[in-house]
Amino acid sequence: MEIDASSVVLTSDALTLEKESDLFFHTYSRLPLAIEKGKGAYLYTKSGEKYLDMIAGIGVNALGYGNPKIIKAITDQTKKYIHTSNLFLLEPQFRLADKLIELTGLSKVFFSNSGAEANDGAIKLARKWATQFSPIKSDHKTEVLSLTNGFHGRTYGALTLTPKAKYHEGFYPLLPSTGTIQFNDGEDLRAKVSDKTAAVFVEFVQGEGGICALQKSFVELLFELSVKHHFLIVADEVQAGCGRTGDFFSYMNFGVTPDIVTAAKPLGGGLPLGAIIGGKRVEEAFTKGSHGTTFGGNPVAAAAGLALIEEMLEKNLMTQAKEVGAYFKWKLDEMRRNHLQITAIRQIGLMIGISVSRDASYYVQKALKQGLIINATNTNVIRLLPPLIISKKEVDQAVKILDKIFKGEWLEGLTESAK
Ligand code: PLP
Repeated sequence: MEIDASSVVLTSDALTLEKESDLFFHTYSRLPLAIEKGKGAYLYTKSGEKYLDMIAGIGVNALGYGNPKIIKAITDQTKKYIHTSNLFLLEPQFRLADKLIELTGLSKVFFSNSGAEANDGAIKLARKWATQFSPIKSDHKTEVLSLTNGFHGRTYGALTLTPKAKYHEGFYPLLPSTGTIQFNDGEDLRAKVSDKTAAVFVEFVQGEGGICALQKSFVELLFELSVKHHFLIVADEVQAGCGRTGDFFSYMNFGVTPDIVTAAKPLGGGLPLGAIIGGKRVEEAFTKGSHGTTFGGNPVAAAAGLALIEEMLEKNLMTQAKEVGAYFKWKLDEMRRNHLQITAIRQIGLMIGISVSRDASYYVQKALKQGLIINATNTNVIRLLPPLIISKKEVDQAVKILDKIFKGEWLEGLTESAK
C-alpha cells in the first residue's frame, strides 16, 4: 500500500501543519495525519487511510484503541461523577491504589496527572525523607542524581534530572543540588554518591534514551551504595512500566524493590494519570499539606486504569508482551542480516529500539507513506512501543514494511551515486 502522506493533510477543514503552526507554540513535530478514530492497533485518518500504530500514543495505549472494558469503566464512572477533588473518599482511587500496592509490595500511593508531575513529587518526597527522616537527617542531604540519557519529563525538577543539553537550553537556572551519573558506569556511580545524596533516579529500561537496560551489576552496586550512604532509589517506570516489558514494572526483572516508583502513561487507560508509589522507608515523609493536586487521581482516569490492569491480568498480556516481543526481535534480527544500516536491535518485552546509522526520523517519514507509524528517539534509534495486544500477524506486517524501506534506502543510495 503506497500512501501519499500529503494526501491526508486536510486543507478543507484546516487540520493542517500550517494551521497547527499558527495556533500552537512550536513545541511538537507532528505527523501530518488528521486522526478520525482508532481500533485495536490501527489508527484511521479523516480521509480513510489506515495506519498500523507501533507507538501507541507514546506507550500509553497498552490495550490498543477502543478497548470495551476501558470504555465501559469510563462511561460508568462518568455517569456517577467526573470530578470532586481530593477532598473526598473516592472509590476508583482506593481500588487502583490497592491494586498498585498489591502488585508492588510497596505501601503508599500519591496520584498525579502525568509522569513529569509524579517525578517532581518524588523529588520532593525524597528530599523531605532525606532531610527529616533518614538516619543522617541533614539540611545538606538534598542531592538528587540521575543517569545520562535518562528522560524524566519537562517540569523543572524532572527536566533537571533529564541531562540532555538540548532540553535545558534557555531554561537555566535549573534545580540546584542535582547531578548526573554515567549510565551503567559503576566507577562513576561510586564517585558521585555520598552521604549528601538523597536519591538516585533511574529508568531500569531507558525509553527515550533508545531502549537501553541497566546492567545487573550496576543495579547491585546501586543498592549496595544506597545502604551505605542512606539514599533512596527511585525507579521511573513511566515508560517501561504497566506491563510493557513483560513484568508489571521493569525493575521486577532485576529482583530488587526500589524505595519509590513513579508511573504514568498507560496507568490511566489513556486518560491523564500518574502515581508516586512509596515503600516503608518513606511512608511517613509526606505529611498533610506536603504535596497536593486538584486533578491528580481523577476518578474517571482511576476507573479506566483499574480496568486496564484487570484486563491485562485476565488476558495474560504481560506474558504475551514477552512472547510477541521475542518474536518481533527474531523477525527483526532475520531482516537485519540484509541491511547494514541497522547497527543494533534491542528488545525487552514490547519495548524495541532499532539503532540505525543515520537520523532515524528519515525512516519515520518513509514508514508513514507505507501505512506504518513508528517513532525516532535519541537521534538514531527507531523506537517501537506497540500496544500489548499486538498479534504476530501485525508484527509480520510491520517487519515487512520496515524491510521494504531499508531495501528502498539502499536503492535510493544507488540512484544517488549514479547521478
Ligand atoms: N519518565 C519517562 C521515563 C518518560 O518516558 C516520560 C515521557 O515520555 C516521562 C517521565 C514524562 O511523562 P509525561 O510526559 O507524562 O510528563
